[in-house]
Amino acid sequence: MSTEDLTLSRLVVGALETNCWILRETGSNHALVIDPGDEPDRVLDAVGDLTVVAVAVTHAHFDHVLGLAEVAGRLGAPIIGHPAEEAVWRNELTDLRTRGYFDAGTATETLLAEGRPPRPDPALPLWQGHFDQHVSDGDTIALGELRVRVLHAPGHTPGGICLAVRGQLFTGDTLFPGGPGLTGWPLSDFDTIMISVRRLLGEFPADTVVHPGHGSDTTVGRESPHVEEWQSRGW
Ligand SMILES: [Zn+2]
Ligand SMILES: [Zn+2]
Repeated sequence: MSTEDLTLSRLVVGALETNCWILRETGSNHALVIDPGDEPDRVLDAVGDLTVVAVAVTHAHFDHVLGLAEVAGRLGAPIIGHPAEEAVWRNELTDLRTRGYFDAGTATETLLAEGRPPRPDPALPLWQGHFDQHVSDGDTIALGELRVRVLHAPGHTPGGICLAVRGQLFTGDTLFPGGPGLTGWPLSDFDTIMISVRRLLGEFPADTVVHPGHGSDTTVGRESPHVEEWQSRGW
């Protein structure tokens, strides 16, 4: 997909069909990989001979980081994220240790019934849980001339980030078509995610394209009329 002067490649990876993005300025060799959640070989194939400046993680739920160590390691690229996500990953690993699979929220029962419990591929290295570079609200990630802005968007997880660049907003599991991300995990909070969602919908123009962590794109203008419905339904 090409949106004006950006080139965005989307790969859908892993058991929860996570959107992994490769973002660059059209014509530039400098790329950012967002959320290599699984299937690192496919991600690396899609990267090809681009120079990956960094691998950014919107948040540290397993479905966004299982390919991280392999992708960043093979590319020699720094892993970027908000420091509060390191605790989220520790929590994910505790789940894996204690029950033998990750907590995939409302998808867990389905995955177990289908005989494919959410577990890491034993052939892949697991992320060690430390970011090479911490980011916080208002930071920018430089890709050649291009600047990608970081927004801290807590609620789904405490250190969730969204990434904004030229009319495109990568929202991780904070904002989807039809509402905020789920908040059923121990480190999640519904009131907090609604503050984050209101901020995103208030701060960006209606034609801003929203790229969520799973599923299809939407726009700020399509979602913003519904924010009070989401607040009162409570999820
Ligand atoms: Zn998540
Ligand atoms: Zn997710």
